[in-house]
Amino acid sequence: MKYIVDDVEVRAREELFINIHPIQPGGRLTPEAMKALIAYGDGYSTCDWCRKPFRLDKIQRPPIAEFHAELAGFLGMDEARVVPGARRGFQAVVSSVAGPGDSVVVSSLAHYTEFLAVEDAGAVVKEVPLNQSNTVTGENVAQKIEGVKRETGKLPKLIMIDHFDYMLGNEHDVRGVAKVAKEYGIPFLCNSAYSIGVMPVNGMEIGADILVGSGHKSFASPAPSGIVAATKEWADKVFRTTQMVGDVTGRRFGIKEIEMMGCTLMGANLIALMASFPTVRERVKRWPEEVEKINYFTKEFLKIQGNLILSEMPRRHTLTKVDTSRSFDKVAQVHKRRGFFLSDELRDRRIIGEFAGATRAWKLNTYGLTWDQIRYLAQSFQDIAGKYGVEVV
Ligand SMILES: *Cc1c(COP(=O)(O)O)cnc(C)c1O
Repeated sequence: MKYIVDDVEVRAREELFINIHPIQPGGRLTPEAMKALIAYGDGYSTCDWCRKPFRLDKIQRPPIAEFHAELAGFLGMDEARVVPGARRGFQAVVSSVAGPGDSVVVSSLAHYTEFLAVEDAGAVVKEVPLNQSNTVTGENVAQKIEGVKRETGKLPKLIMIDHFDYMLGNEHDVRGVAKVAKEYGIPFLCNSAYSIGVMPVNGMEIGADILVGSGHKSFASPAPSGIVAATKEWADKVFRTTQMVGDVTGRRFGIKEIEMMGCTLMGANLIALMASFPTVRERVKRWPEEVEKINYFTKEFLKIQGNLILSEMPRRHTLTKVDTSRSFDKVAQVHKRRGFFLSDELRDRRIIGEFAGATRAWKLNTYGLTWDQIRYLAQSFQDIAGKYGVEVV
């Protein structure tokens, strides 16, 4: 083991193991992003050629302005900005449209950062119940809106629904939600943290007013990094510029965007995101094969008696929740290492990323694994089952 400094060890998990961590695979860096991190690591490195009107997204060298335009086009939206994580995107949007006493409609599978963004704005979340297949539909959103109207006398200020949720990786009816949002005249933020950057996503085609994505979740980028993209109408609101005037000096900073705090994602993180963009643009076209691979994996995984898939089937995302209560957990109950026996067995086979010690319900993500790695992964689970007398059919 080598150390960078003191007790900070070199991290080589992606080089040495097959990593099935639920949140890590889509953020794995490209070699270009790694180079960008080194070359642009110094603090205000992106400011070398910053000229009037002095705003990050206007810089021409390196071509940050051009990148912003391309990014908006790639997502089928009019304007895009980069932010430090999807969470900062939610925060910017919610605080632009909601305030104390307002309601924001979210999914019953909403990410905690959506809750926090709403709380930060002084508003309250109103959760849409799931249907029988654990998805959010336009119909259920409409019902929730009616409920909020009856209860508070006001319409919600924002609908924020996940394209794919983080708990099950299920796809939600975002097109149906967009239609309902339009009918009520409420803006719709499509949380695309698990979709932008791994699969083709077009905000216009979905009918979303705003898309928020994550650079470190799904865009082969370092943390923190994220994306907010909006239609012209909502860009004017979310990316509104400062009106403040200094009472002594009379100073104004006219072009700085309030929610972006003027300049947002500066330096290496932005340039790394840009450096990964050509790869990301190509890799989203290969999403159907990623889906094929997870469906091959689940088919093999289900041959282990007692195993269940808790996510919707067939899979439409590589993030998948499995239940091994009636297989590996049975082994864990009598094993001296308890649930850690599974982690030990996987690690012995150079597989990591499962929640250490978990043998009941847990998540895995096969994004980016090769067919060889997928077959090896499936075989490894079957081998472990066989070793402990769990039947494989
Ligand atoms: C990961 C995730 C987030 C948070 O993304 P950050 O970029 O880390 O802020 C938000 N929502 C969902 C659904 C996620 O999966």
